Amino acid sequence: MMNLATSQTAKEPLLLAGKPVADALLASIAAAFEAFKRENPHIKTLPGLAVVQVGSNPASQVYVNKKAKVAKELGFHSEIHRLPVETTQADLLACLEALNADANIHGVLLQLPLPSHLSASQLQAVILPEKDVDGFHPHNLGLLLAGQNPFSIPCTPAGVMRLLAHYQLSVAGKHAVVVGRSNIVGKPMAQLLLQADATVTICHSKTPDIEAITRQADILVVAIGIPHWLKPSAVKPSAVVIDVGINRHPQTDKLVGDVDFEAVSPFCSAITPVPGGIGLMTIAELMHNTWQNFIKQN
Ligand code: NDP
Repeated sequence: MMNLATSQTAKEPLLLAGKPVADALLASIAAAFEAFKRENPHIKTLPGLAVVQVGSNPASQVYVNKKAKVAKELGFHSEIHRLPVETTQADLLACLEALNADANIHGVLLQLPLPSHLSASQLQAVILPEKDVDGFHPHNLGLLLAGQNPFSIPCTPAGVMRLLAHYQLSVAGKHAVVVGRSNIVGKPMAQLLLQADATVTICHSKTPDIEAITRQADILVVAIGIPHWLKPSAVKPSAVVIDVGINRHPQTDKLVGDVDFEAVSPFCSAITPVPGGIGLMTIAELMHNTWQNFIKQN
């Protein structure tokens, strides 16, 4: 196969940093919250986010702490429920049901991955759709598929769409290729791109000759969980490359994406960094969803 990297001219791509976009979203939530408090001095309830973690997966630990920190910085009520790894499905269901019934909580997030003896899909379906700030409840995913308004849109794909809009990268009429078909990233990502009038192709582990497809992408979203998987030979020079992956590099232990950033960036028109890209957007979108749920309930 021809290596496109050798046939293309290296250039500086537009760096799609997540920080300015995430900061702007968080600032708009903070401003809306201040205005709400001024206009509703009698309402003492704060927007409340509860994050439930089972076991002590170190990466999950970092994500959970970060989510709680950003929520607190916004002045939200924030709870972390850390449950032991041996927690049963019944115990976890009871915990989620208690949070469903808690009037101080507007968003319930079950941190993934769960230990293998627990069923994520069954547990996610227990969280009330109006408190499902991850947007993973079948009700919310179904509304998203139907092109109607879910209570929450999954945070990572929502963050990708906001990032594209911020950098004025048009989607309508473009060929968007999404690599990865998970319920939490790939599928809702494809749906949002479709709703924005892209022509969408989804690739996955059984897609033959995947590079022949990714090379057609005007917008290429990679969410597979394999460090540095995307190489320049799989990218069209004018492509916008969105790297959703967050992985530990097996040799260096550094945080890296699914895209080989150093190798790919000279051969595309725009690219997200890892870290500093979609991860920041995901957390900001989680706060957005919590805030929206709070507003709908008040
Ligand atoms: P999953 O493991 O649930 O899904 C991975 C998907 O990638 C599957 O659809 C799988 O295909 C596909 N895949 C795996 N290997 C290949 C391959 N060689 N070629 C093509 N497709 C392949 O992962 P997630 O969707 O949960 O996460 C993906 C990545 O995104 C991870 O690095 C994760 O850490 C990161 N992530 C980042 C977030 C952020 O905030 N930036 C948020 C959530 C996730 P198949 O279905 O056929 O098995």
